[in-house]
Amino acid sequence: MRIFSGIQPTGRKHLGNYIGAIRQYVEGQDRGEAIYCIVDLHATTVAYDPAELRRYLYDTAAMLLAAGLDPGRCILFRQSDVPEHTELCWLLTSVTAHGDLNRMHQFKEKSAKQRELVSAGLFLYPVLQAADVLAYNADEVPVGDDQRQHIELMRDIAERFNERYGETFVVPRHRIPEVGARIMDLQEPTRKMSTTAPSEAGTILVLDEPRAIEKKVKSAVTDSGSEVERRPDKPGISNLIEILAAVRGVAPEAVEAEFEGSGYGAFKQAVAEEVVEYLRPVRERYEQIRPDEAELERALREGAEKAHAISHEIVADARRKMGVGAPR
Ligand code: AMP
Repeated sequence: MRIFSGIQPTGRKHLGNYIGAIRQYVEGQDRGEAIYCIVDLHATTVAYDPAELRRYLYDTAAMLLAAGLDPGRCILFRQSDVPEHTELCWLLTSVTAHGDLNRMHQFKEKSAKQRELVSAGLFLYPVLQAADVLAYNADEVPVGDDQRQHIELMRDIAERFNERYGETFVVPRHRIPEVGARIMDLQEPTRKMSTTAPSEAGTILVLDEPRAIEKKVKSAVTDSGSEVERRPDKPGISNLIEILAAVRGVAPEAVEAEFEGSGYGAFKQAVAEEVVEYLRPVRERYEQIRPDEAELERALREGAEKAHAISHEIVADARRKMGVGAPR
């Protein structure tokens, strides 16, 4: 089985990224042939600073290695190093409906936030994402819940291509975790945790110091009750239950049972302590790995060579089926 996922080179990854996606990447190494891509081309679809993009790319690579990706057991590479992604993106536009792209939630959200320019790249973002996965004929795509619609679209694109040009692509399925697929902001528990939140206080960064994590968890917004239960009218407590369950690798019911009657204070204390210990080794390894950019670069290049060897054949096949390029 082949597993593929992509992650944006935003410098700061948060607990939602870690629980929803990154730890699934690490597990993927034991479950199949795992391929992970840092999507610098996707990052150019909104306003950005070129020098920062380079730095963030290394930050993200170091984070993934610190989390446990092992270049001996997976392929880790930078999207722009493998030109097949952009080529296939264009080929796939021929079987992508404009109307479907118009319906993408992420496009609507991100385009509303742009101050100067809504780029065509932002509109085509999901097609490039489809190309990322289809270029490897991946079976499974580990992602958080916010990527559900993008994965549905890439399935439609693969199916339409296969129908129109003949069997070419594997139709991939998402792998969205049962617990932790949508970690919410601690201050505003009705919106998902993100680094673009108006306040830092609701976002736990993977690299936060223990004291910062403790402070954020303890000041998390909760309602006026005292029951540690998941309920629609208790989004803050529900989120903390989900976080603790994900960190422990248990069902949320087990957390509810354990903290029944113990009140919010003791519960928050436990969440704070366990999140600190959960992230501690990642932060420590990150500090060792991040300074050596030459080594990060070497690992990415080696990954790109392996990725290219796979995607080259698959994209060449797509080109042939479409009747573009010299006949062979
Ligand atoms: P990004 O950093 O936007 O590339 O996201 C990387 C991965 O993290 C994607 O698979 C997202 O679905 C996942 N993700 C982002 N935010 C959250 C969240 N709040 N909870 C769970 N997963 C998330």
